[in-house]
Amino acid sequence: MTNRVCLVHYHEIGLKGKNRATFENQLVTNLKRALRGQRVSAIKRVSGHILVSFEDGQATDEQANLIAQVPGVARVSLAYLCGLDERQYCDAAVRALGEAGSFETFKVHARRSSTAYELHTLDIHRLVGGVLCEAFPTKKVQMHDPDVTVYVLVVQGSVYVYAASRVGVGGLPVGTAGKVVTLLSSGFDSPVATWMVGRRGATCVPVHFSGRPMTSDSSEWLCQDIVEALAPAGIIGRLYVVPFGECQRDISLAVPQSLRIITYRRMMIAVSERIARLEGAKALVTGESLGQVASQTLENIAAVNEMATMPILRPLIGSDKMEIMRRAEQIGTHELSSQSVEDCCTLFMPRRPETHARMDAVHEAWDSFDHDAMIEQLVDHVEYVDYDFCPSYKPPRQIRSWHRELAPADWEQE
Ligand code: ATP
Ligand code: MG
Repeated sequence: MTNRVCLVHYHEIGLKGKNRATFENQLVTNLKRALRGQRVSAIKRVSGHILVSFEDGQATDEQANLIAQVPGVARVSLAYLCGLDERQYCDAAVRALGEAGSFETFKVHARRSSTAYELHTLDIHRLVGGVLCEAFPTKKVQMHDPDVTVYVLVVQGSVYVYAASRVGVGGLPVGTAGKVVTLLSSGFDSPVATWMVGRRGATCVPVHFSGRPMTSDSSEWLCQDIVEALAPAGIIGRLYVVPFGECQRDISLAVPQSLRIITYRRMMIAVSERIARLEGAKALVTGESLGQVASQTLENIAAVNEMATMPILRPLIGSDKMEIMRRAEQIGTHELSSQSVEDCCTLFMPRRPETHARMDAVHEAWDSFDHDAMIEQLVDHVEYVDYDFCPSYKPPRQIRSWHRELAPADWEQE
């Protein structure tokens, strides 16, 4: 039986000059992690593709599906791996076309990566095309925009044949764009925002503010489930949790009702930026979308923005809720986000939040309590959970002196 392998296609974007090797090596590393437990025998670069083969020689749809979820993967094909034997690769072409679903028109596209093989691409087109016409007598060859293209790729003594490919998530390999801290609630938006910057190659470190001890810890569990749902993308290595309930109570006692939410958000940004500095992250990320809720007007965004010195990325700023929900469904967080749990957002909510905050009022509220002491205290009580989904995540070394009891066990041996 002819072996089947996964042939991974990636975009040329980001592949210029010396970036190319970094990009490809990171993608290989990320694929290895995503395919742990799948009995992979080799992952290697071949002629502008990455080839994944498995111990039993028979790559499956399930494996192709895992690969398709890894950022940087544009497409993945279950290809037949043949030798330079004409009969073998023609048979594979018949099988590949037979599996391509319903179609009326097709063409053959051959490529040789070396000239060592005596047949030229035109000869291969003629040979394979002839065999396919005999095998599918009612179907037509069409050179322009056919329903199916059968690819025949000759690389170093092997021939890869495939027709169908599944679309991958695209983007860039995680680990090629630096680190970001993302503010993660258990709502629909922030998991999608996190995934989107992860897809652009950023290693994501989510921070969740929980209402504990004034609420239960259910939002924390939900955030952990969300991180696990995002595991196939390999973007997250650690989740920080900040118990925020008591501080929210103190804020709610100190500031006018209408400015509570803005003040909570300012505090979240200040604490997240501290964590970002500790982590060596270069930007913060939120799931805000312009005008979606009271806190997301331009005035309120400005009032929150001034708490950060690093950029705040808002990948969903121009997205509609329906688009965000569709994406949530696609990345597997929709169902989790639709569970309603108590979190810090439901705690001490004002009846009428300010929608167009005046900066002087915001500053007055901010100065009406010891905000610096609160930031220190929150940073001191941060907790975290580690995950092994993301090979590019490196925990900060300072955390040992900062939080010795929370440091991972193996750090003691360093
Ligand atoms: P989401 O669906 O992400 O919860 P939302 O539409 O409910 O967003 P807000 O509640 O105004 O909007 O939150 C705006 C952004 O602030 C969120 O997308 C998230 O990035 C951040 N955020 C809100 N609540 C929390 C929280 N409890 N912990 C961490 N970040 C939060
Ligand atoms: Mg929310």
